[in-house]
Amino acid sequence: MKIIYVDNNATTQVAPEVLQEMLPFFTETYGNPSSIHSFGGNVSYKLKEARARVAALLRAAPEEIVFTGCGTESDNTAIKAAILSSPDKKHIITTRVEHPAIKNLYEYLSKKGYRVTFVPVDRKGNLDIDFLYKNLSEDTAVVSIMWANNETGVIFPIEEIVAVIKERGIIFHTDAVQAVGKIPVDVSKVNVDMLSISGHKIHAPKGVGALYIRKGTKFFPFLIGGHQEKGRRGGTENVASIIGLGRAGELAADNLEVESGRVKFLRDKLENGILKRVPNSMVNGDIENRLPNTTSISFEFVEGEAILLMMDEFGICASSGSACTSGSLEPSHVLRAMGVPFTAAHGSIRFSLSKYNTEEEIDYIIEKLPPIIARLRELSPFWDK
Ligand code: PLP
Repeated sequence: MKIIYVDNNATTQVAPEVLQEMLPFFTETYGNPSSIHSFGGNVSYKLKEARARVAALLRAAPEEIVFTGCGTESDNTAIKAAILSSPDKKHIITTRVEHPAIKNLYEYLSKKGYRVTFVPVDRKGNLDIDFLYKNLSEDTAVVSIMWANNETGVIFPIEEIVAVIKERGIIFHTDAVQAVGKIPVDVSKVNVDMLSISGHKIHAPKGVGALYIRKGTKFFPFLIGGHQEKGRRGGTENVASIIGLGRAGELAADNLEVESGRVKFLRDKLENGILKRVPNSMVNGDIENRLPNTTSISFEFVEGEAILLMMDEFGICASSGSACTSGSLEPSHVLRAMGVPFTAAHGSIRFSLSKYNTEEEIDYIIEKLPPIIARLRELSPFWDK
């Protein structure tokens, strides 16, 4: 059975160009980049190239990029560095709709004595910016606000927010894991102190990420060990994956405009096709202010998990809520924060596209999904038949 993969906010296919560039570094050029001999030195040259490529994607300087083990590590590193650099401040701010990599870290820190403010969002998933500004204080050590939401795709106005936060001298971090490669992310224009990215969301492998640290930002490593990454992240580098991330970053930078336009066309076709054919379905999140590849659609009076299982029989792979929350039957914290009614939040499906999706695939989903919802509603005690 052909797989129709529309779960690209969970993870993406490694691009063939990326894999090709990685392969020699497993079996041929496998030296340690820290070695003195030239066999290792050749590897360190490729790491340098990867760093420059990732920097170019973000419009940063290469020395502002630290490679990490994943987006989660980048997020944890940034927040921990920020609170260590302001040890007297005990207030930290984030949003109610962050990925668990930030949300659960903040909840952990609240148990360790930090006062935490979670900024709410409105029904469309847009941030309550006045609430954020009103809660800034002399005691605030760090504000972390995601660039784009992984479930709804809603984009936050980071440029506007960061200007106010920096005026107050507070450290600002953004989780740009879902934004990078899909919309322009330019740290030469947007004055963030730290920014997280993850390889496997942009067609590089899983298990590699990067943290942008603006020059001059006080920093403390999360992994303390060897002198790798100029002492900013101990541990022998995941060489092949970093090279993959570099190539993926280069591809994303080169093709962003064309590919995001094409992906948006397919996403809109999918969304409109579904909404037209399925009654009591609605989009979650601000449709004017979203990532081009993402749509979260609620189907009232059915279970998201049941929809996923039935789509799976046709080879269609999507997510209910966030991939990281699947396995639990609770509606996602993002949809709850937006005030999506329980009957709709339970039946929400996230479709997230990539450059590898085709129009035929979209037509296939539009054909297969409506009868699935109709069948499930026939079985639902809540559906008024
Ligand atoms: N932040 C966001 C917004 C994400 O969507 C994800 C992954 O789903 C992460 C962080 C974590 O990235 P990683 O899986 O590389 O740890």
